[in-house]
Amino acid sequence: MVQDFIAGIDIGGTKIALAIAAAGGEVIERTSFPMDACRTPHETLNQTLEALESLAEEHHGRLSAAGIGCAGPLDFERGIVISPPNMPRSWRHFPLRSLVESRLGVPVLLDNDANAAALGEHLYGAGQGYTDLVYLTISTGIGGGIIAGNNLVHRLGEAGHVTVQPDGMLCGCGARGCLEALCSGTAIARRAREYLLAGRQSKLREMVSDVKQLTAKTVADAVRENDELACTVWREIVSFLAIGIGSIVALLAPQVVILGGGVAAGAGELLLQPLRDELNQRVHIVSLQRVQVLQAGLGTDSVLRGALALGTRALQHART
Ligand SMILES: [Zn+2]
Repeated sequence: MVQDFIAGIDIGGTKIALAIAAAGGEVIERTSFPMDACRTPHETLNQTLEALESLAEEHHGRLSAAGIGCAGPLDFERGIVISPPNMPRSWRHFPLRSLVESRLGVPVLLDNDANAAALGEHLYGAGQGYTDLVYLTISTGIGGGIIAGNNLVHRLGEAGHVTVQPDGMLCGCGARGCLEALCSGTAIARRAREYLLAGRQSKLREMVSDVKQLTAKTVADAVRENDELACTVWREIVSFLAIGIGSIVALLAPQVVILGGGVAAGAGELLLQPLRDELNQRVHIVSLQRVQVLQAGLGTDSVLRGALALGTRALQHART
């Protein structure tokens, strides 16, 4: 008998991850490949869909629905990628959902990657059992997703673009001092690089052959070795993060804030503990004792698991 599979796709600025799952959500197989900025979105999409169809065939099945988490902002209602600052420019105004629907001939749901990750964490990760949560991804950029009353909330702006420093660093969105401009992985590396170029001494100089190779992970590694400059950068980042997350907590009073994405997953408690302390200092209107600040439970798989959950929803919607 031919088995029906759900397809999940996580499209990010640096890589595309995909998986097929059984109807109950169990992941059957997965693969990934790098995002190639030189290829058109159509070429990348073809490669993705062919890979998914091959996975389904290898497991003697067929695809019955697909869910996609893609870097935002995007138009959820129309299924169109709008202008993600961390994706190749050729993806702007790309009608992703309708193309996948017509190519695969199955129902498809598309959401931004942070919303997909919030859903993944709520169903399978650190957000299980909570009815109200905020998920923030800290990686190349910063994005956020909200579950309220057990439902994924749409029609929201972008959490990564709340202002945390008036007239601060110019952000990819065009505004100044956004959370993303100051606290993303890219921003952490840039801040450390600026200090080094200004002549500050640090172990960071020995940890990379060229300061251009500095990453947020290098900075976190140097913080673990008590490097003074890296610790300065880290304190600044934690402070700006606490301003941004503190505003979000004051507004939404969630039960839990979950931090995911490559930077948060790599740093773990090195980031979370000082962040909790700083939030305690800053937020008074909401009791922080009632707001957990946790690391994502699915590591870097939050978006992919959420995309699979979106696929299941697409199938349910099609049947009702
Ligand atoms: Zn911005």
